[in-house]
Amino acid sequence: MTQPTTPVRIPQAIIVSDLADELGVSSIDIIKELMKNGVMATINQVIDFDTAAVVATDLGFEPEEEERETSSIDLENTSDSDTETTTTSLRLVEDTADTDLVNRPPIVAVLGHVDHGKTTLLDQIRSANVVASEAGGITQHIGAYQASGPDGRIITFIDTPGHEAFTQMRARGAQVTDVAIIVIAADDGLMPQSREAIDHVRAAGVPMVIAINKIDAPNADLERTKTQLTEVELVPEDFGGDQVVVPISALQGDGIDELLDNVLLVSDLNQPKANPDRDAVGIVLESASDRQRGVVATLLLQTGTLHQGDALICGLTSGRVRAMIDHNGNRITEAGPSSPIEVMGLSDVPPAGERFEVRTSEKIAKREVEDKARLLAAEGEERETVTLDTLFGEIHKGNVQDMNIVLKADVQGSLEPLVETLDNLSTDEVNTKVIHASVGTVNESDVQLAVASTGVIIGFNVQPETGAKRLAEQEGVEIRLYDIIYDIISDIEQAVQGMLEPTFEENQDAIVEVRQVFRLGRRNAIAGSYVREGTVPRNAKARVMRDGELVHDDDISNLKRFTDDVREVATGLECGIQIEGFSDFQEGDEIIVYHMERTL
Ligand code: GDP
Repeated sequence: MTQPTTPVRIPQAIIVSDLADELGVSSIDIIKELMKNGVMATINQVIDFDTAAVVATDLGFEPEEEERETSSIDLENTSDSDTETTTTSLRLVEDTADTDLVNRPPIVAVLGHVDHGKTTLLDQIRSANVVASEAGGITQHIGAYQASGPDGRIITFIDTPGHEAFTQMRARGAQVTDVAIIVIAADDGLMPQSREAIDHVRAAGVPMVIAINKIDAPNADLERTKTQLTEVELVPEDFGGDQVVVPISALQGDGIDELLDNVLLVSDLNQPKANPDRDAVGIVLESASDRQRGVVATLLLQTGTLHQGDALICGLTSGRVRAMIDHNGNRITEAGPSSPIEVMGLSDVPPAGERFEVRTSEKIAKREVEDKARLLAAEGEERETVTLDTLFGEIHKGNVQDMNIVLKADVQGSLEPLVETLDNLSTDEVNTKVIHASVGTVNESDVQLAVASTGVIIGFNVQPETGAKRLAEQEGVEIRLYDIIYDIISDIEQAVQGMLEPTFEENQDAIVEVRQVFRLGRRNAIAGSYVREGTVPRNAKARVMRDGELVHDDDISNLKRFTDDVREVATGLECGIQIEGFSDFQEGDEIIVYHMERTL
């Protein structure tokens, strides 16, 4: 497409054939363009402006609301800008080096035990404080929204409560949250998932505000809840500590202003900043493929300004911002730092937590994705696993700061002494840190936490859940299971000192029967053997068994078929075997051939 862009006015809703007339192209062309964007439509179907605008833009038109002068079509044909690929991808995310930093709204996540009122709180804040935009559209759930605090300052709320989402994003390398609100119901008090949430937030190094909810409930006990907080080393300010705790009733809307005030106060300590004058960088909060609109992704901008028409790269997906919608459902053409927006125009659904960046053209973005995909394919399955012994190496190389441990045990009584002992194993070089300890099986949330924190999981008298096991394998996280406390301590101690021996497992290759013995002088003999089961490899170990008793165990030093040295001998064949340091074979001996394999 090389024609210059032509402005065109398109109504809020238009029939496909009318759009074709308007643009002076055939309906088939429109339908083809729609299909390219994942939308299946018929000639008589009504499509909305956003969708029509996408097609019009693709066909070289500039739909009504287009504000930017640079059209994507020009950009796509600027072939000499291709060389920018590498430099653009090296740009920093953090704006620390930028001089044009301005304050940006804090990004807040809400975590806590199930039914303690996270959703009610998010709904209450949204309905009472949401920042309305000029057009005042209908508030819609797009995974995040912006509300204003009592002083008029804006706060961005991530609308997916819970630590699963929080840590899943962190596991993908995305750290977006500036402040976490931990919701604890005053009638229930501190529950297992409250502790879990607190550990997840702590592991992320994100400051917390505790909201003690349901203070209106008949059996609410504020004092008891605060006392429980001290047990997890969160000492409320009125108890002499420095943990901000705000009593609220999410249901009745009490204490919400104070909560928002405190969130801003805590965020001010680290004053989040960004540069609105640069290209946008951010993460995907959620995404889905919609039959009508194609791929729709909710993005959260960490820095920069995103414009309609910008080309994006997002993990293994690329595309162009064809339409942008704010959290009020209004169509917008640009969005600044900390804004949550819905974007149409990516070619594929990116995973939550994936980072996006702007590129100079869609073509460059696409090529970069192709290169990345090729690279990944070439690297294949070689995913590095974080294990106790590799972790030491990483710490040594300065890649990891701490030896982070997620600890699970069958009973509370085993946890406390273990946490204490493990925390005390730190050396000058390695800081051992139990980032989460709880009773129960190893679950997916534990694995996510270990991934996000580059840690290992230790299970004492517990098993991993099937899903957790699968996820751990996929993500390369080690789950070490023990039934003797001392073994845990001794392994961590050795790992900390960088001396942990890798663990090996015996793998049987073959069972062989000695049928004839050939003596070669006094100290040498060949066992003329028959392979009953499996295959005998040359570089293996052999255990000679006689009447069920072990006679000798060492390496195979020689493997022959007739007079030739061979690399292996299969089932049903005869061969000559020599074993290191052994010549006393007897007919009828059984040889178990095996090798040792590293378990992780
Ligand atoms: P979530 O699982 O943490 O998202 O919890 P929800 O927001 O779904 O709330 C669980 C239940 O607690 C619902 O029945 C809410 O109506 C109720 N709830 C939430 N906040 C309050 C509150 O401040 N007071 C009382 N009494 N009930 C509440």
